[in-house]
Amino acid sequence: MMQSRWRDADARAAVERYAAHGIGEDLALRVYTTRLLGSDPRLVLHGGGNTSVKTVLRDLNGDEVEALCVKGSGWDMATIEPAGLPAVRLAPLRKLRARETLSDEDMVRIQRANLLDPGSPNPSVETLLHAFLPHKFVDHTHATAVLSLVDQPNGAELCAEVYDGRMGIVPYIMPGFALAKKSAEVFEASPEIEGLILLKHGIFTFGADARESYERMIAMVTRAEERLARGRKTVFASAPLPQSVAPLAAVAPIVRGACSLPDERVEGAFRRLVLEFRTSDAILSFVDGAEIARYSQAGVVTPDHTIRTKNWPLIAPAPEDGKLDSFRAGTRAAAAAFMARYRAYFERNNARCGGKKRMLDPLPRVVLVPRLGLFGLGRTKKDARIAADLAEAAVETIAGAEAIGRFESISEADMFDVEYWSLEQAKLSGAVEKPLAGQIVAITGAAGAIGAATARAFAAAGAEVALLDIDVAAAQARAAELGGAARAVPCDVTDAASVRAAFDAVAETFGGVDIVVSNAGAAWQGRIGEVDESVLRQSFELNFYGHQRVAQNAVRIMRAQGTGGCLLFNVSKQAVNPGPNFGPYGLPKAATLFLVRQYALEYGADGIRANAVNADRVRSGLLTDALIAERARARGVSVKDYMSGNLLGREVTAEDVAQAFLHQALELKTTADVTTVDGGNIAAALR
Ligand code: ZN
Repeated sequence: MMQSRWRDADARAAVERYAAHGIGEDLALRVYTTRLLGSDPRLVLHGGGNTSVKTVLRDLNGDEVEALCVKGSGWDMATIEPAGLPAVRLAPLRKLRARETLSDEDMVRIQRANLLDPGSPNPSVETLLHAFLPHKFVDHTHATAVLSLVDQPNGAELCAEVYDGRMGIVPYIMPGFALAKKSAEVFEASPEIEGLILLKHGIFTFGADARESYERMIAMVTRAEERLARGRKTVFASAPLPQSVAPLAAVAPIVRGACSLPDERVEGAFRRLVLEFRTSDAILSFVDGAEIARYSQAGVVTPDHTIRTKNWPLIAPAPEDGKLDSFRAGTRAAAAAFMARYRAYFERNNARCGGKKRMLDPLPRVVLVPRLGLFGLGRTKKDARIAADLAEAAVETIAGAEAIGRFESISEADMFDVEYWSLEQAKLSGAVEKPLAGQIVAITGAAGAIGAATARAFAAAGAEVALLDIDVAAAQARAAELGGAARAVPCDVTDAASVRAAFDAVAETFGGVDIVVSNAGAAWQGRIGEVDESVLRQSFELNFYGHQRVAQNAVRIMRAQGTGGCLLFNVSKQAVNPGPNFGPYGLPKAATLFLVRQYALEYGADGIRANAVNADRVRSGLLTDALIAERARARGVSVKDYMSGNLLGREVTAEDVAQAFLHQALELKTTADVTTVDGGNIAAALR
């Protein structure tokens, strides 16, 4: 059950902290309780809520003005700062109430025109609702327990009974001007109320001070929780399902492949998504339910989830162990049906709205897998996590709703109006995606100089990056440098089980793999006529079999996805241009060069490309500063001249090698290619 987390000492500390920055008490306390709300996932998830305070501020001329500080777009309530609550002149906002209608575009324009600081973020789309209410503090959340009450065919009666006149009840209207007007009317009809219940949407509370408004939210959500705890019936009786379930690592690439689309503009390209897996007793009870096709397909639990999760999840078949072929066929059929349904939904509703909307991609954003759990899907790992968080909240909301009645969402037309809201469409038309958005790359030897530079280059191009290395602590440090969702995975490429486990971990973490940079290697030396056979074997383990193990595992996952892929190998100029005493290194590298061609030959029909980079004289763990100094001395040249001793006279860097891998990943019509990155070395030129 909810508990107030208001502490006088914390509130005072917030006021003092912000006072030092010239922020007044009203806004300081607004930040304090906004954070209290935002840090509880039962109340607020990913921008699903907003708060405001009415106060007096000085404008840019230094004149005092009555202003509404209301949550701005792009700010997370859990970590909000005063800058996240842009100040809007209150009088012009209130004046809008006299209008009959107001378009969303005009509403946004007027809100922006009345910002005290023109550099502020856009105020929330629910700004007018805050402005039209007279209370100093207004709090709004999409609390899970309240949604379980309002998402019912008899939600209005249920709430009237639970709140007993303390809350006004507002029928479902899409956020914007009309909802703001209606909410103000409901308040004015019963000015003693402490807040508003918005059917199929959420809850507002208000008060004369920060604590009153916040604690009313806690009290009203608690009432909803108490109602849900009474007279519960058992929900989600289980369907008959197979006992033995296939592992997540095998299931995820199949789901990911089914939820992707060929890119119509570029042959060989796909629109791909990244996955985030979740499971728990609550999720399993939901996905295993006999009536999953009814309650999971009934619609969103609150309208602003639509943009993140689409209106319905995809239901995959249960993945029985040992029967992955039939799981694959069933999942692909379900995905095709999902996309056909989505296209029909778009056509039907777009026609209703005048036919001017641009269709979003028809791919699902949530996939339910009986016996296993659920996946959130997104163009980035971050988006996938948000979809998964919202899906988990939906599971909880629907379970609560079904326990006391029957879950019901808004109509299809209402969902479309939110999903294809003109303000959201405008955001899309301006967005440019990075070239590898939605793609997953695994890099071996990722802790070394070339591996780390490659990880940086692919992350900058928009890919999700898995850094595989035998030294997982070093890989973790590299992943931390990249930030975002980059993940370090332990991997010893000389050990088949370790490589298998590493690729399973990549599939479990991201859903699969699209690009593999097989980079791990090390140099062994010895005069070929005298070298011990064990040295040669050791070098082959790493410099040939290591690449083969990595490529085999990558191809297994890529074929399960069915969306092609790209294998990239760090070969070496040694593969074509032997150096004295470097036989133990050059021989396996020569075999690896042949391996590249063998993969290109045998998997081209699957859309899997195989390319190599031949680099030379790059500072790295193989070519250390000490070794460079020794070689320069032996040749009687400076270190600088040694490093740039090539046709172009330019030193080759790890970044140069990384860029060559990136180019090969992007060249969709190129396979069995070797790119030299050596500044020019005629003896190593391929012919
Ligand atoms: Zn809302």
